[in-house]
Amino acid sequence: MRNIGEKCGVFGVYGEGLEASRITFFGLYALQHRGQESSGIAASDGERLAAHKEMGLVSHAFGEDDIRRLSGFAAIGHNRYSTTGGSKLAHAQPLEVNDGSIAVAHNGNIPKVERLQELLQAAGVETENLSDSALMAEAIGYLSRNGRPVEAAVEEVYGLMEGAFSVLVLVKDKLIAFRDRFGIRPLAIGKLNGGYVFSSETCAFHPVGATYLRDVRPGEMVVASSLGLKSVQICEGEQKLDVFEFVYFSRPDSTLLGKSVYEARRNCGIELAKQFPIEADVVIPVPETAIPAAIGYASQSGIPFEMGLIKNRYIHRTFIEPEPHMRKQGVKAKLTPLREVIEGKRVVVIDDSIVRGTTSRQIVNMLFDTGASAVHFMVSSPPVKYPDFYGIDIPDQKALLASQKSHAEMLEYLNASTLNFLSFDRLVRAIGVAESDLCSSCFTGEYPVDIGERRDAIRFDVEQRAY
Ligand code: 5GP
Ligand code: MG
Repeated sequence: MRNIGEKCGVFGVYGEGLEASRITFFGLYALQHRGQESSGIAASDGERLAAHKEMGLVSHAFGEDDIRRLSGFAAIGHNRYSTTGGSKLAHAQPLEVNDGSIAVAHNGNIPKVERLQELLQAAGVETENLSDSALMAEAIGYLSRNGRPVEAAVEEVYGLMEGAFSVLVLVKDKLIAFRDRFGIRPLAIGKLNGGYVFSSETCAFHPVGATYLRDVRPGEMVVASSLGLKSVQICEGEQKLDVFEFVYFSRPDSTLLGKSVYEARRNCGIELAKQFPIEADVVIPVPETAIPAAIGYASQSGIPFEMGLIKNRYIHRTFIEPEPHMRKQGVKAKLTPLREVIEGKRVVVIDDSIVRGTTSRQIVNMLFDTGASAVHFMVSSPPVKYPDFYGIDIPDQKALLASQKSHAEMLEYLNASTLNFLSFDRLVRAIGVAESDLCSSCFTGEYPVDIGERRDAIRFDVEQRAY
């Protein structure tokens, strides 16, 4: 099972006098939304690395003793997200190679790893059961065991893989950060008390008192050491940030490509209201991620905003459960409809995306059960029609509702009064960056990275509806 690392969170610290593992703990806490399966930290005291990894949430994985034991001025951490397969502590990151002297934390997914496999197989390393992240870590380990300085090992391994990767590597006296040439997953640098922090998202800077410096650029390697920060442009980069970071993944208090995620989502709601004005009594979001879009829709349409669905924040994402029956139970376990808001009302319900459609279907059903007189389902992004190897955790196109059903069939399946999706052009306008800065393959079927033989399994003739 190779598609297991997509939208994890990584965080790292390098700075004399900083208690790096504790800061990393709080950084990971702020990135909990990016992965809840396992959490880990590796830290260096300048002589050696120590690591601690556990299944579950950050708060569950670390106790005071663990943080104390991970002493030192440099650390990297990882929250892992995964769906089907491979739910094991062995997959938790940071991965450790060369007797624990190198630690690697990876966010992304690398569909093309043949050359990494060849390198390792030629060296006699067993690659059969290694994930993409593990192949990368083993290859860095192998090259540095064989005389390469770790930076040179990273550069060489970089050239052997193609895909999405934002990576942190820790050795005893350095923290190395690098990003694939399209910068598909985010990775930002912050400053903290003369030292540096690295984070999947900028939302982790405020809680630890860091200030944003800049992003690691597509194709760039940044090395933090006693010499300060060094930049090496490994290859020419071309920004293609996964549009789903704006749509769903990132926290609203993060900034991506210089744009506030909150504002981008609120603008999506404004655009949605312009594209699909409707008569209704109340606008409600599917919490949490669709709240800014619903605020935008309400403000533009003049229809009152209410919280008609209350979410229990402490229940894990239903999406994580790959078993359909459990997923079905999951929505009720985390969302409760408020009769006071819904009964007798024509409800506009806003969600950020429809992927499989299972959640949306249950939400519509729940709203009618609670007495809604109409349920207008509005989605603040376009239909997801194509598998995405670097973002959404569905590599199988058949699981995507919009790739299997026409608009009319989707409406019937959801059993809503109306169903509408924000157009792609309006989504890009709402975000406010150039379309060419985004990887939008899940909506458009255009892949920036060669996806090899996986292309053969994709249908490109799905209904193209003009909105
Ligand atoms: P569906 O039932 O259509 O598969 O799920 C759509 C819901 O899942 C939306 O409410 C959206 O916020 C959320 N969602 C979209 N993409 C992802 C993802 O990659 N992971 C998780 N956990 N949820 C997602
Ligand atoms: Mg949602």
